[in-house]
Parts: sequence; C-alpha cells; structure tokens
Amino acid sequence: MGSTAATLDVVPRLPALLTPGRRGTWLLVVARCPFCHKRHTHRAEHGPATGETSRLSHCLDGGQPYRLVPTTREAA
Ligand SMILES: [Zn+2]
Repeated sequence: MGSTAATLDVVPRLPALLTPGRRGTWLLVVARCPFCHKRHTHRAEHGPATGETSRLSHCLDGGQPYRLVPTTREAA
C-alpha cells in the first residue's frame, strides 16, 4: 500500500452552530468533533458577530486545535 500515516498536520476547519445561550451569552456548538466524534460547546465571546475562530477541542489528551466557522443553521 505505501500510504503514509493519516496524521493531521493541518488544523481542520468545521462548521459550528452559532446559537444564543443563557443570560445573553452565545455558544458555538460543534455537532461532531473530528477527533472524538462527540458534540462540543464553546463560548462565542462576540455573540452574533463571532467570526471564524481557533479553539481547542478539549477532548483526547488536553485538546486538539481546530478552527470553527460559525453557521446559523443546523447541519443536516
Ligand atoms: Zn472532541
């Protein structure tokens, strides 16, 4: 086969649902983490104006970096 190991040397970009949380906060919801395939929720500091942002997934060993692209629609 001769294929190299499937290590990620590029930070993945993925859509995250931008949705209002409690007390005026906004959340970025990752429906399916590329590392652990679970759902993650992050604070969106800039509310509805939040743009693409780098975060740590907080799973596996100490979290893996990824980039979140805010979307306002639920992924299918
Ligand atoms: Zn994860």
